[in-house]
Amino acid sequence: MSTSLFSLEGKTAIVTGGSRGIGYAIARAYIDCGARVIITARNQDQLNEAVRQLGANAIALRCDNAIPEEVAATATAAWKIAPIDILVNNAGVSGFFKRAEFVTVEEFDFTVDVNMRGMYLWSIEIAKRMTEAQMPGSIISVSSMLGVLPGERLGVYSATKAAVHQLMRTMAIEWAERGIRVNAIAPGYVDTDFTAELLSSRWREKILGPIPMQRTAQPEEIAGAAIYLASAASSYVTGTVMLVDGGRTIV
Ligand code: NAP
Repeated sequence: MSTSLFSLEGKTAIVTGGSRGIGYAIARAYIDCGARVIITARNQDQLNEAVRQLGANAIALRCDNAIPEEVAATATAAWKIAPIDILVNNAGVSGFFKRAEFVTVEEFDFTVDVNMRGMYLWSIEIAKRMTEAQMPGSIISVSSMLGVLPGERLGVYSATKAAVHQLMRTMAIEWAERGIRVNAIAPGYVDTDFTAELLSSRWREKILGPIPMQRTAQPEEIAGAAIYLASAASSYVTGTVMLVDGGRTIV
């Protein structure tokens, strides 16, 4: 297979939550494959630092995915920079680690607003512009293997990621004839700020035990799937959940 199948030369991508962790690794990989990348997040200082590290092909736009008006305004601003070929819905929160009965209504709503509604809003904002411009495109959502397996003390988080899978599948059906492919990447546990506290707690062994590869992933190990799903290499792939989980979900 020619490596040019994986080229993103001339493409423009948005990576939400691209200032650190998995989103940053995807932005880095896309730039290395020739794309220009717009990263979004809430913290402006982290965005500035990420752009400094990513170089001339990175642009930052501040946006809180929990606020619908900000998503709409940022999508408009991004499209003015360039028509968007690739959207990666990566921003996500878990925020708490506790049994279902201890989760507050505020925590529940916040998790749904960022992880599920944020993915939904960004996807429709970009898909409607792709449709108007009669452009093909690729929309990728970073979900979680916990959208497939239930996550103990992460029930609301798991539910938002399962919802992302169903929204993704519906969008894949509805937008296929327009040439817009819609897929998800479902990582296992990845070493980022997101998991730092949990993976250094007494839960670490319980988490690692059932993973056939017996380790967590590095953020860069999620980026390969994101390149594949954004590029011509996956031209016949839509509606798929690509698990990148060290084998966790097969046991
Ligand atoms: P991370 O290191 O905490 O990074 C999260 C990114 O999302 C940051 O750029 C953050 O920037 C941004 N973000 C958070 N809330 C936001 C909001 N309301 N609006 C806009 N941006 C927001 O987390 P990560 O581990 O890279 O996780 C990225 C994605 O992978 C998430 O969807 C997560 O659910 C998923 N995932 C992670 C793992 C894992 O083990 N790490 C496993 C499976 C799936 P600001 O805080 O500045 O906004």
